[in-house]
Amino acid sequence: MTLAAEQLTTEQKLDQLAEVAIHVGLGLAPGQELVMTAPLDAVPLARKIAEHAYRAGASLVTTLYADDETTLARYKYAPDAAFDKAAAWLYDGMGAAFKSGAARLAITGASPLLLSNEDPAKVSRANRAVSVAYRPALDLITRHEINWTIVASATPAWAAAMFPDDAPDAALAKLWEAIFATTRIGAGDPVANWKAHDANLQKRAAFLNEKRFSALHYTGSGTDFRLGLADDHIWMGGGTTAGNGLYCIPNMPTEEVFTTPHKDRAEGVVTASKPLSYQGTMIEGIRVRFEGGRIVQASATKGEEVLNRLIETDEGARRLGEVALVPHSSPISQSGVTFLNTLFDENAASHIALGQAYTSCIKDGDKLSDEELAAKGANTSLIHVDWMIGSGEIDIDGVTATGAREPLMRKGEWV
Ligand code: ZN
Ligand code: ZN
Repeated sequence: MTLAAEQLTTEQKLDQLAEVAIHVGLGLAPGQELVMTAPLDAVPLARKIAEHAYRAGASLVTTLYADDETTLARYKYAPDAAFDKAAAWLYDGMGAAFKSGAARLAITGASPLLLSNEDPAKVSRANRAVSVAYRPALDLITRHEINWTIVASATPAWAAAMFPDDAPDAALAKLWEAIFATTRIGAGDPVANWKAHDANLQKRAAFLNEKRFSALHYTGSGTDFRLGLADDHIWMGGGTTAGNGLYCIPNMPTEEVFTTPHKDRAEGVVTASKPLSYQGTMIEGIRVRFEGGRIVQASATKGEEVLNRLIETDEGARRLGEVALVPHSSPISQSGVTFLNTLFDENAASHIALGQAYTSCIKDGDKLSDEELAAKGANTSLIHVDWMIGSGEIDIDGVTATGAREPLMRKGEWV
């Protein structure tokens, strides 16, 4: 018999979260090595995950902790020239670990506002340096060559940003509850719940793959936007079998079905439906106009400078690398909470992402050269930044190659 949700302690729910992270999210194989990254404040979850990893037969768990205060000290005291530097040796090492068979787990939970008072030019230089250094290792992840997953831990700084009117302890407890509820922890058997949810997402993706739409048309609430899909695109949702043969669900939670748009085929105006928290800065009221797949005009009511620096990262940063459909009734959207964290907020609404495409969303994408992928419409960039464009106001039609239209979503729900 399973305990009712309200009878589980936070400790037990933490244990369940670690269990699904290892067994469902990561699909860790016996004997496999694990590279984990975590904020310092996520130590309790990181330890539980390490415990479940070893119990599942992990050969070695290596956890790299990041400390917000140390990051801030850099912005306060480091010389200006330092902001073009990244720990290349570390990312090379991670790439070597992935190549030798390690799995990758990231715990997210850093303060979404950490860098909001820092110089946007320094933030953008530091991010760029990390993107360049991490690129070879990240490639193995975007190509799904290894099993990987991201889960969240509540942290005091994140909780304070989300619930500024609550006392620190109450805010932290609220954030944990929100994470457990949206990550399907606490009600019944979490492993079975996740497997059923995964099957549903797979079914939705299979339906879209059968339809073979060549474009999507979004209308409503400041948006009139037509987005072409890449040639030979594949809709994906839930889990995927990585190149190393292991089945993983890369994001926990996940509510999206997604594919690769055509980098040269986006036309019209899109208004973001939620604020975007990007590397410690909030960007609000985003409104963007596309022509020939490229952003030709971008504005924001807050954080416009950061937005403009972001899309100037490289040529591909002005183009789209992902399109995802999420019903407005998703548990995250229904929680009514804005998490200020992409892992959650991108699963609250339909979204698009600027930058790098997932090549696994193109038929035989892992076997194609960069030129062949580009010819099919897959975008390349140092960045991949999701932003929310769906809401209860948006209608989406699927458009076939012959121009026939079919309603896909009305008022944010699947038809
Ligand atoms: Zn997405
Ligand atoms: Zn994305």
